[in-house]
Order: sequence, then C-alpha cells, then structure tokens
Amino acid sequence: MADFDYDLFVIGGGSGGVRAARVAASTGARVALAEDSRLGGTCVIRGCVPKKLMVFASEFRDSFADARSYGWDVGEGSFDWPRFSGHLNTELDRLEGVYRKLLDGSGVTIFDQRARIADPHTVTLADGSSKSAKHILIATGGRPVRPEMTNAHLGLVSDDLFHMPRLPKSILIVGGGYIACEFACILNGLGVEVTQFYRGAQILRGFDEEARGLISDMMQEKGVNLHLGTNVVDMGPAGDDKMKAARDGMGEPSNEDVPVSNMVQGGPIRVKGTNGIERTYEAVLFATGRAPNTTDMGLEEAGVKVGRRGQIVVDAYSQTSVPSIYAIGDVTNRVNLTPVAIREGMAFVETVFRGNPTPVDHDLIPSAVFTQPEFGTVGQTEEEAREQEPIEVYSTSFRPMRTAFAGKSDRVMMKLVVSKATRKVLGCHIVAPQAGEMIQLAGIAVKMGATKEDFDRTVAVHPTMAEELVTMKTPVRSA
Ligand code: NDP
Repeated sequence: MADFDYDLFVIGGGSGGVRAARVAASTGARVALAEDSRLGGTCVIRGCVPKKLMVFASEFRDSFADARSYGWDVGEGSFDWPRFSGHLNTELDRLEGVYRKLLDGSGVTIFDQRARIADPHTVTLADGSSKSAKHILIATGGRPVRPEMTNAHLGLVSDDLFHMPRLPKSILIVGGGYIACEFACILNGLGVEVTQFYRGAQILRGFDEEARGLISDMMQEKGVNLHLGTNVVDMGPAGDDKMKAARDGMGEPSNEDVPVSNMVQGGPIRVKGTNGIERTYEAVLFATGRAPNTTDMGLEEAGVKVGRRGQIVVDAYSQTSVPSIYAIGDVTNRVNLTPVAIREGMAFVETVFRGNPTPVDHDLIPSAVFTQPEFGTVGQTEEEAREQEPIEVYSTSFRPMRTAFAGKSDRVMMKLVVSKATRKVLGCHIVAPQAGEMIQLAGIAVKMGATKEDFDRTVAVHPTMAEELVTMKTPVRSA
C-alpha cells in the first residue's frame, strides 16, 4: 500500500474546506490544507460576514429617522467610512485568526500558499514542493466575474467594495442577483447615490414573483434608481482632469481625489445604457455573477471532469471523476451558499473517513437575501409549484407596526404556497425586516413537511409580523 504524506489534502481554506479539514482530523486522519489568500475564504473575508456588517451599518440612517418619530432627539448623523472600514478590517483579522487557531488546534498542517493538482494523489505547492495524499479535497470556491466588454476592467467587483478608501458619491450597479440587490441597498443606506441596471424584466430572477415585485418597489421607494430591462452599451473613463492630475501625482490630492478603487484606474466612468441615457458615475460595480475557481489547477491533466461553466463535476457524495479527488462548495456550482458548502464538507468526511456513505441533501434549503427589506425564502415559488400540481396561495402584505408608527409606507409580505392534494406547505416567502431570522425557523416546519393545518394549529405570537404566517385563513388564489 502506498505511503502518503497525508490522509487528506484540502485545497482552499474557506468555510467548506476548513470544516472538512477539522472534522476529518478529528477522526484521527493526518490532514493538510493549503490556502493562497486568507483563511476564512469568501464568506468570512469578502462575502457574507463583511457584507452583513455593512448591512447593519447602512440600516442606522433609517433607524435614526424612526427614532425621532418615537420621541428621541437624534440628528441626521453622518457616516464615517474610514472609521467603519478600519473596524471592519480589525474584525476580519480577528475572525481569520479564529479560523487559523481552529485548524491548528485540530492538528491540521496549514500551507499558506497556492496548491495545484499534480496527479490523483499529489499536489504541488507554489514553493515547488510536492505532497502526497490518499484523498484530495478541492474547496477553492468562486470569484466574481466582469462581463466581456471594452473597459469592463474599470468597474469594481464585490471583492473591491471592502477595500475602498472612501465611498463614491455615485455608483452604477450592474446586475439583478443577490449581490447587486444587496449592495444597492447597502450603498443607498450609506448615502451613496445608487443607480442599478438589470437586463431582465424584474430583479432576483428565480425567486417568488410577488416577493420580487415588492422588494423592487421598496428598493425604489427607499432611493435606489432601478432601471429594469437595461444594460450597459458602452463605458469608458470620463476624463475628469482633477482626478487625472491626482493620479498622476500633480497638485495636492485631497481625500476627495483618491480614486474609489485602488485596484483599477478609478476615477469617474462614463456609461451609456440601453435606455439611451449617458451619464458619469464615480464608480461602476459589476455584480454579474461568479465563476468557479478551477483555472490552472491541473484538473484536466489529472483527469478531473470540469463542466461547461468551469465547475468541477461531482456525484451525490462530492466525488469527482477521479476516485481519490473530491470537491465541495462553490467550485462545484451546486447551491452556492456557505452553509451548503459546510454540509457538503461534513458529508464528505462522513463518507470517506467514517465509512458511512452520506449524500448531501440539497432539498428545501432556506436562504435569505439581505436587501432592505430583507427576503427569506424556502421551498417552491408560486410559479414553480403551480407547474407541478394544484395549489392554494395564502399571502398578505401590510404596513408593519414599527415603521407605520413612524409614518412610513414600508410594507412586508408573508406568503405560503400550499399543495391542494397533500395540504403540505411547499413554499414560504417572507419580505420583512429580520426575514432571514424568521425563515430559519419556518424552514424547519417546511422541511418537516408541515401542512397548512399545522401552521394554523400553532398559536400566534402577538404582536409580531410573523404571526400572519399562522393566521391567514382564506387563500388569495388557487391554481
Ligand atoms: P447571480 O447569478 O445571482 O446574479 C448575477 C446577475 O447578473 C443576474 O441578475 C444576471 O442577469 C446578471 N448578469 C449576468 N451576466 C450579465 C451581463 N453580461 N450583463 C448584465 N447582467 C448580467 O450572481 P451574484 O453575483 O449576485 O451572486 C452569486 C451567488 O452568490 C448567488 O447565486 C448566491 O448563491 C451567492 N450569494 C448568496 C448570498 C446570500 O445568501 N444572501 C449573498 C450573495 C451571494 P440574469 O438574471 O438575466 O441572468
């Protein structure tokens, strides 16, 4: 039997890779992990965590306004980006340290460098050394992609937003998915003038239509200048002399002159839209999707099958076409969410190191989009469900107590999609502040197969927004 350096070599130190490495080590396996960037990966370093902290930061402006209606004597306030981002970076350093400690404490050997597959049992590290392993787990995640067009490099991607030296005064966000909509709301809340272009008829494609409509309306009411059915035709530097002089080191650049992006040329960008409007934005953000990190990994040479979108093709046990190589998380482009990558990592360890073959359950995954208002969703949309079977739809939209008192027109939505035959709740969709928290709990009931009558038997918690989920008596539609 071959003598390997390790039982498991994990490539990628994000949520999925770190969890798999730690849990595998706890079974007594000899485990190593390579990461060429920062431990914690997209979620901790340039995704969910810093994004959610930015969501919190951006919500204060509304809260200050509400506070005045509740009798508090508070002013408008002003937001200090350098102060916030300094604090944010300190917090991310702390979290990265926690990840390193967890790995160290589990006995995982960490290589802070890039690794490539050399053959089914060998990885080559950037320093030229090779390590052999009985199993290799690829958990390299994904990265944001810009559309292919002239001057696209002038636009930011989501990774760049956490490193801006200051906030732009105006930004054009291109895209209508999770990242585009979340950052449109965040930056709007922080006082940036936000324009959003989405090429389709309604943002958040694939989610429940009624929910999408409400979120879109509310985003516009709150100040996002959303253009549906619109894309970028052409973009280029606006040629602002002051900005150019500052970049060329001429004159005395003030903080205002520092380009928003230190990665690209920065400076104002002229954009022509398919709506015929041509104007200048201080920054452009491309939130036009993400691609799996499979480039130059040695995959094809080792015989690992890669799909059309660059994703590693795996079976239900996360095994690739090479039996000793597995892959989990965004690099497989299944359901690209942190908790799913973690589940896939745990199922891999259960299968390979505990001898208990465990497929990953990708059914009925609750998730949240941190727009303002927030969106929590689990199960089928009304549109999907009615294609499958006869359904009843229970839905209500109302002004919640907290903001109605403050004189605002904010609305929330609670919706259940119910099977006529089985009475099971097939989908639950919530647009409301804290909808992410609510859907986590509703998700348990839906996952357990709760019926509408189970929801009805549950006594309302009063006064809350979520009580509507158990008090909707009459369907608004049948289909
Ligand atoms: P998405 O795939 O969700 O959205 C990409 C958006 O860009 C779509 O609106 C798409 O339009 C549009 N688009 C794609 N190509 C172009 C183009 N060439 N020109 C103009 N528009 C274009 O990607 P995201 O980057 O927003 O998010 C990636 C993934 O990250 C998500 O799928 C999700 O799994 C995860 N994520 C989860 C979060 C959460 O759980 N809260 C938060 C952030 C990310 P169209 O609809 O027409 O294809």
